[in-house]
Amino acid sequence: MVQIPPYPTPSGQDTGAHHGARRTTPLHSVLPAGATVDPNLNPRQREAVLYLDGPCLVLAGAGSGKTRVITQKIAYLLRECSYPARQVVALTFTNKAAREMNERVRALVNPQWLRGLTVGTFHSLGLRFLREEYASAGLKRGFSILDAHDAQALVQELLATTDRARLRAVQQTISLWKNALLDPDGAAHAARDANEAEAARTYRSYQATLMAYQSVDFDDLIRLPAQMLAADAPLRARWQSRVQYLLVDEYQDTNVCQYQIVRLLCGDRAMFTAVGDDDQAIYAWRGATSENLAQLGRDYPQLRLIKLEQNYRSVQRILQAANEVISHNPKAFEKTLWSDLGLGDPIRVTPMDSDLAEAESIAMRLSASRFERQAQWKDFAVLYRGNHQSRVMEQALRNLRIPYTVSGGQSFFDKAEVRDMLSWLRLIANEDEDPAFIRAATTPRRGIGQGTLQALGTEAAHRGVSLFTVAVEVTEAILPAARQRQAVQDFVKLIQNFQARATNRETPAGIAGEPGDGAGRILDDLLTAVNYERHLYDLFDDRQAQSRWTNVLDLTDWLKRKAAEDDMTLLELVQHVALVTMLDRSEDDEPDAVKLSTLHASKGLEFPYVYLIGVEEGLLPHRGGTDEGDDSEAGAAAQVRRIEEERRLMYVGITRAQRTLQVSWCRKRRRGRDDVACEPSRFIDEMGLQAEAAPPAGDMEPDRTLGLLKALLKK
Ligand code: ATP
Ligand code: MG
Repeated sequence: MVQIPPYPTPSGQDTGAHHGARRTTPLHSVLPAGATVDPNLNPRQREAVLYLDGPCLVLAGAGSGKTRVITQKIAYLLRECSYPARQVVALTFTNKAAREMNERVRALVNPQWLRGLTVGTFHSLGLRFLREEYASAGLKRGFSILDAHDAQALVQELLATTDRARLRAVQQTISLWKNALLDPDGAAHAARDANEAEAARTYRSYQATLMAYQSVDFDDLIRLPAQMLAADAPLRARWQSRVQYLLVDEYQDTNVCQYQIVRLLCGDRAMFTAVGDDDQAIYAWRGATSENLAQLGRDYPQLRLIKLEQNYRSVQRILQAANEVISHNPKAFEKTLWSDLGLGDPIRVTPMDSDLAEAESIAMRLSASRFERQAQWKDFAVLYRGNHQSRVMEQALRNLRIPYTVSGGQSFFDKAEVRDMLSWLRLIANEDEDPAFIRAATTPRRGIGQGTLQALGTEAAHRGVSLFTVAVEVTEAILPAARQRQAVQDFVKLIQNFQARATNRETPAGIAGEPGDGAGRILDDLLTAVNYERHLYDLFDDRQAQSRWTNVLDLTDWLKRKAAEDDMTLLELVQHVALVTMLDRSEDDEPDAVKLSTLHASKGLEFPYVYLIGVEEGLLPHRGGTDEGDDSEAGAAAQVRRIEEERRLMYVGITRAQRTLQVSWCRKRRRGRDDVACEPSRFIDEMGLQAEAAPPAGDMEPDRTLGLLKALLKK
């Protein structure tokens, strides 16, 4: 176990000197109440925004304006309290939430005061930290970040298993250990059975390999800063002086590591505001612990606790249903939530014959409803428990030509085959990118295995150079086996051949009328040289291999077109792709489209009209993990905790809706090749609603529909 020293007391470095000078009198007592913040804030919200005398926790239910408090407080700090933007840090749960918060702050504050403001996730803050402090972490400047795919491939290689369930379990265990700040020794010590002991051994080699590759994974982006801040007092002092005020949204979903970062960055001054709702804690499976809410009170006895009670998001019926459901969970904190937005339409619960019928019916109702309400597509959201549920819904929406976006799903550039091909291009463009080297050298297999990579990696780390550099001059001392050396040399030659052509242009080099040796031709040659199609057919059944190969061809066709249109070299093309993939992920401009989203990814968002689909036993609550069928006392307790988390997920889903909520469940659902009979979720009963016999044609009460139609006709 890595020891976190007791709460550090930075001596002689009161990094708040600047701040202290500014605040001899508590600010809120010298400012006329309400004059400096949004006059619409209610008194409790205003109190939370103005409070600067110490740590502050806002604990309140969904839609009560917690995120609004954070945005307003950032504006207040910059505008009224002359905090320099670069000393204010706000942490959100997703990149998307960060972008939204940035936009809202931008609307409130003069842009010139915003320079240097950090609004991001714990991960992006961790990355910034490591970009500066890489040397203390034993990393080279150009260290790489393995994404979830790369990390999984590595664990798979180390475990030497094709058992996907086992692979996922081990990966999750390692991740939980990392987030609990356990190192491989600590994990070996904590392992309770043979499975965990194997996971701990895998963890050890995984960590060693990451180091050899000079790479970190996503968990390391949080774990390393937490460890380094705890262990290194001067470093801590430096960072504490840079973070004069910290704000944390969705605090209930932080894990041990993230909480340590909050503590260590804030230091003794404890100038922070955290907001959260224990009823919306839905990431326990990833090591988050809403215990952190209670822990805050223990660690900071001076903590100011502020509760908000008015919900500004949902009509009463929706709020009532949400409150009913969550009342079935044990209460850690007493909370009330009310709304004065009117009663609203009744919540409809509709049984459907199958998931197909459900999707078709919703697509039609949604379309009718948009017309009746004169709403926009983006006012509608369809929410579900599991990623796989989007497919049928997407099909139904496409049939009716309804535009939609899927969040929490896989994008084209996340597909394994696309990433494989891009890794070849990335390596040709930048030979120092180690993860690209690893991926290209091992996909398809060409005699370069784990042992070879580890030998190259150790040498590279020792000399502080890239894997490719070592590979170019590979010696017998590094790789004793001639066969291994040959494989590496062949690979290097292949890459170098393409590198030599990478700056060629299509047009000038060619004889008139003939295309020259530009990006288009190089891409064709690369496909042949890599022999990727064969690799796919070796690995997958024909149908899968074919669909994956089609994706590869889509990618290369698109690249070739781009190269021809803009006369780009291969090098320029690769940089362009990096930009596109970044844009692809950022969803910058929200199009007018129906939002399909998992419940997890819908956290913090709101939509006027929400459809909650597949609300069945086994799906929501989701069928159990390892605890299912475990009759022991511990197994039963784990099961209860799991159902409670699923209930919070249901609560999150219901509370996304502003005006109407439609709940549906299927009597039958396809599982593999069979149709399985399904039961409505217990959560439907718990909402205090009755199921209806037949699905309605539209979403509105008939008389209101009629009225609206009349109004429309009159226009
Ligand atoms: P969640 O728990 O789902 O994250 P939240 O507590 O963060 O919700 P917000 O998203 O901040 O709630 O606010 C919910 C909605 O209520 C938003 O549309 C917000 O603009 C609005 N709102 C918040 N406070 C007020 C207020 N004082 N007056 C009017 N509208 C408000
Ligand atoms: Mg929020």
